[in-house]
Amino acid sequence: MHEDGIIQAFSKRGVSRRDFLKFCTTMAATLALPSSFVPKIAEALEKKAKPAVIWLNFSDCTGDTESILRATKPTIGEIVLDVISLEYHEIIMAPSGHAAEKSKKDVVKNLKGKYLAIVEGAIPMKDGGIYCTIAGRSALEIAREVCGNALATLAVGSCASWGGVASAAPNPTGCVGGQRGCSKSNGGKSSWMPGQCGKHYSHHRSLFDFRDIPRSR
Ligand code: SF4
Repeated sequence: MHEDGIIQAFSKRGVSRRDFLKFCTTMAATLALPSSFVPKIAEALEKKAKPAVIWLNFSDCTGDTESILRATKPTIGEIVLDVISLEYHEIIMAPSGHAAEKSKKDVVKNLKGKYLAIVEGAIPMKDGGIYCTIAGRSALEIAREVCGNALATLAVGSCASWGGVASAAPNPTGCVGGQRGCSKSNGGKSSWMPGQCGKHYSHHRSLFDFRDIPRSR
């Protein structure tokens, strides 16, 4: 799926070039860019394949996921079908259990240095990170592996950026933001995006910004 370009995805769904340019115009408006950027957005979308994305949920309230699911311009359907190849997201992915874990492992192994990691929620550091585990592995361990092999890591919301409410005193699980949790092993470029909880327009903008990061380190 991640080998398809966006224009191919549009074409398969019967979207005309006229509608594609309308989409680009809407994206420019959404990102508060002048109309002169419309051709540049169209060119970028036509040339590039959809980036594979792993979305990690750690110590969070899922508010950022809720926000992006309720976005309207563009919708989550347009984002997932046309803009990115969402390979792993615990809440909206079809596979579960071992199949879900395999999806994540396959991306890390086969697309090393080429995929985007998105982190939602803080990372508990206390007692070896045992206060948030997924499939028997701590959030800390998962973040270091997934973010450390990504082209770029995007932290959505305050919790993932600097610890947020999850790190409020007395912070019994030792929560920190992803940047601090991954700092020892993240060799990829990172875009740590703090800001208000659940601001989906900011998330959208970062996804499109990601498309301009060169595909090699
Ligand atoms: S940053 Fe806000 S919306 Fe996101 S997980 Fe934390 S509290 Fe929830």
